[in-house]
Amino acid sequence: MKVLRLRPGKERSLQRRHPWVFESAIAKGGGDAGETVRIESADGKFLAWAAFSPNSKIRARAWSFDEKQRIDAAFFASRVASAVEARGLFDLQSDGVRLIHGEADGLPGLIVDRYGDTLVAQFLSAGVERWKAVLADALLAATGLQKLYERSDASGREREGLPPVTGWLRGSGETELTIREHEWRLSLDVATGHKTGFYLDQRDSRKRFAELAAQRRFRRVLNCFCYTGGFTVAALAGLKSAGATTGAELISIDSSLPALERARAHLALNGFDDAQAEFLDADVNASLRRFVDEGRTFDAIVLDPPKFAPTVAHAERAARAYKDLNRQAFKLLAPGGHLLTFSCSGGIGADLFHKIVASAGIDAGVDGYITERLGAAPDHPMTIEFPEGEYLKGLVVVRK
Ligand code: SAH
Repeated sequence: MKVLRLRPGKERSLQRRHPWVFESAIAKGGGDAGETVRIESADGKFLAWAAFSPNSKIRARAWSFDEKQRIDAAFFASRVASAVEARGLFDLQSDGVRLIHGEADGLPGLIVDRYGDTLVAQFLSAGVERWKAVLADALLAATGLQKLYERSDASGREREGLPPVTGWLRGSGETELTIREHEWRLSLDVATGHKTGFYLDQRDSRKRFAELAAQRRFRRVLNCFCYTGGFTVAALAGLKSAGATTGAELISIDSSLPALERARAHLALNGFDDAQAEFLDADVNASLRRFVDEGRTFDAIVLDPPKFAPTVAHAERAARAYKDLNRQAFKLLAPGGHLLTFSCSGGIGADLFHKIVASAGIDAGVDGYITERLGAAPDHPMTIEFPEGEYLKGLVVVRK
């Protein structure tokens, strides 16, 4: 059994059950990629069992803080089963569900989404890579499903020194799928879509947008970074439920053409009229500037940009990018209009995001009420021990 000895004072975060051990905390020891190592404090006390990652700055990720725990197939079966069982606690209103959310589910580096009868997994750390076959079997056993597609092609793999891998890991079938979310239907392709195919984390905010559309009867809606049009479908569904679709205009912008084509197809899939929505294959920043120049305004704007700051190190540049976007959006917001603005950057905390949005409003000369805070749907849990889990934050701002 291999041992990793920490430098003096570096045991504290593990004692608080934070699962990461950085390269700089290690005095000596190591192992092979993904091998289970025993982590000890500088004075030789047991701290955790962890998976060693020889190429990553996060050099080890803890599996367990219990010295008696064996890290074996039964351990992984039990972790997977409890994560799957926990999803039964949430009222998700969808058959697209995040079943395993990495560290928050005690499985650092593993992401698993379920779309109907198909599972899609990302193995993003050396530890879960090493236990891939065991985890795949555990996933099928815990869900009773047979199909598991691997999408281990995220950038996190590189940092772990792992090559990209995609394809069926268990079973096989169609990669093109349709899920039900709330009262609407959305399609995705698990082989070619972003991440595992779809942004499940915004499920509750899409629902909220539908409710606001129904209550406020939005006329002009701008959905920026629309991907496959989830917020566009939500707005139309809300308007339809209020009998207020006539005369509404929706503009959705993304720089991915395949995503936009799917967004357009989602109108027909949900029984909406094509003529009501316009889809722009364009850069959001440039489009917002153009709309400002043209003097256009909107009753509702969604800003859901990609991750600008994956870690705290990127926070400053990312903050400027978020501020710029939000400033333009504020200028386009009609009085009484709603801005739903998001950041999915782990490196930008909720307080900082709030400050960025506030200073964007000040620069735009616009005041507003922050009426709601939004976050990831509950199947993307945050835990007390792992604050980095709070990556997605959103604000609803209503212009005065
Ligand atoms: N709101 C979406 C998810 C957005 S993900 C949903 O509910 O599903 C972020 C999207 O931003 C991606 O689809 C990506 O293609 C797009 N994107 C990234 N940079 C962009 C840019 N500069 N201009 C337009 N779209 C961009």
